Amino acid sequence: MGSSAIRLIFQHQSCFDDKIVISIPDGRNPYVYLRNWIKGELRRKLEEYLSEYSSLMNVRFNRFFIKAHKSKWGSCSARKNLNFNIKLAALPEELVKYVVVHELTHLIERKHNRYFWLKVSRFCPDYNEKEKMLAKYWFVVHSNKLWLKLLEK
Ligand SMILES: [Zn+2]
Repeated sequence: MGSSAIRLIFQHQSCFDDKIVISIPDGRNPYVYLRNWIKGELRRKLEEYLSEYSSLMNVRFNRFFIKAHKSKWGSCSARKNLNFNIKLAALPEELVKYVVVHELTHLIERKHNRYFWLKVSRFCPDYNEKEKMLAKYWFVVHSNKLWLKLLEK
């Protein structure tokens, strides 16, 4: 396991040069185990951000799920369920928060129109910059060997 990959995952926890050692129970697939562990960490983080921003923005969602999306960081269904990409675990906190704000905004406006971006900008004025960073991170995560291995079924 490359330490750069671990750094990538945990940089938001300021463990830049530390290795995090996770013991895998006997007979378990280490990648499946690590993926579930990462998912749990991300779930806790999302719960925190979602409760913070949904009350700030005065919106209500139904449930949220963490999935391994092939082409997006998150989505919002017509039933007001939110979906988040497990790869968000590799991103800095500010970007995860931005994705949370973005998806919560879809609860009031489904399209990426002017009204949508106006709403987003109230809670994230530099959303343009965040979108650019997300595009860069998409490439970074998808060229990371550990992540590619983690996402294999
Ligand atoms: Zn969107």
